[in-house]
Amino acid sequence: MTYDFHAAAEAVADVAREHAGAVDANASFPTATVEAARQHGLLALLSKPDVGGHGAPLRAAAHVIERIARECGSSAMVLTMHYSGTTVIEAHGDLATRRDIAAGRHLSTLAFSEAGSRSHFWAPVSTATKKGDRVVLDAEKSWITSANHATAFVWSSKPTAGNEASTLWLVPNKQKGLTVARPFDGLGLRGNDSAPVTASGVEISNKNRLGDDGAGFGIMMGTVLPTFSCLIASGALGLAEALVQKTAAHASGQKYAHLATQNALADLPTIRAYVAKMRIQVDMAKGLWNDTFTALEEGRADAGLRVLEVKAAAADTAAQVADLAMRVCGGMAFRKDVGVERLFRDTRASLVMAPTSDQLYDFIGKAICGMPLFG
Ligand SMILES: Cc1cc2nc3c(=O)[nH]c(=O)nc-3n(C[C@H](O)[C@H](O)[C@H](O)COP(=O)(O)OP(=O)(O)OC[C@H]3O[C@@H](n4cnc5c(N)ncnc54)[C@H](O)[C@@H]3O)c2cc1C
Repeated sequence: MTYDFHAAAEAVADVAREHAGAVDANASFPTATVEAARQHGLLALLSKPDVGGHGAPLRAAAHVIERIARECGSSAMVLTMHYSGTTVIEAHGDLATRRDIAAGRHLSTLAFSEAGSRSHFWAPVSTATKKGDRVVLDAEKSWITSANHATAFVWSSKPTAGNEASTLWLVPNKQKGLTVARPFDGLGLRGNDSAPVTASGVEISNKNRLGDDGAGFGIMMGTVLPTFSCLIASGALGLAEALVQKTAAHASGQKYAHLATQNALADLPTIRAYVAKMRIQVDMAKGLWNDTFTALEEGRADAGLRVLEVKAAAADTAAQVADLAMRVCGGMAFRKDVGVERLFRDTRASLVMAPTSDQLYDFIGKAICGMPLFG
């Protein structure tokens, strides 16, 4: 029987909706939602059937993330990073780890960003030093989603030898020498547990290498980027969709008691026009989003460009739609009652998650002008 990822996403979205307020208020990890995702098979969505996974395409993961983000941005972010890490492990990881992910026993994430190179994730400054058949890692990772909850990190460092930009490793969490610097207490996505982590003399087996020594940059660009970019876009569009729906409901429901007719907020043409603009912006971005998966599935020549475009477009759309939602819902929007202020805060993250929107505009401009993206 074909796995019904839509039904699974609906079931998990129900759990996400129930816990989203508390996850945000307490900056607590969305444990119940991740457990629901595990029970409904969503942690195994991108794992291949040979290890017991569903072997679903990226488009399916995108729909799952979009649906869950409408209820809880933090949960969508945790799953986005799980799927991003999973694609690397599926391509370069060992059989046991792949089976664990497919069985729902392993939560993955990416540990790319560093205090030294900041949003330039493609250029880690942290080190990996060979010690016989072991490797010693030293690093100041600046952000790792699910830092306290992931089973292992897909980790970048400089190569042990040579001049390439990076090498990737699978680093088990709680390994001796790893320290989560402080809990996450952020503006938005408050439950995503995205904390700085230091590695001081962390020893792992050389077998934990993901791909060849020095192959990290190629894996980041070829394997991670399409998944990460498309799924961050999906989360942003889920938040944007929820903003449109909540704003329309608020505008239709709020009345001016002193006016006998034309007394709803939505009776104001300016308000209706703002809601219409929100709807159009989201639908335009969703058109690009759908086309990105078609481009990837058909191996179209512009697929790489679409991957860059979709994150920039979705992030900007979500942020702009959130600004409009705050305007339309007025003073009420400042309170939690209407339900747009959390979404507004959550939308800000996709703009600055690397590659950031401004980096993407630079890359896209370079690609269009026939210039090399790096260098
Ligand atoms: C909620 C959240 C979760 C995250 N989770 C993870 C995670 O799980 N794993 C992980 O590895 N990282 C994660 N990150 C980190 C993220 O990907 C970025 O690395 C981080 O947000 C960069 O922040 P910074 O202040 O160091 O950026 P900076 O590098 O200081 O950038 C500041 C500004 O300068 C701009 N800028 C920088 N370089 C350029 C350029 N070349 N061209 C144009 N503009 C530029 C940026 O766009 C940005 O607006 C997360 C971040 C957030 C906010």
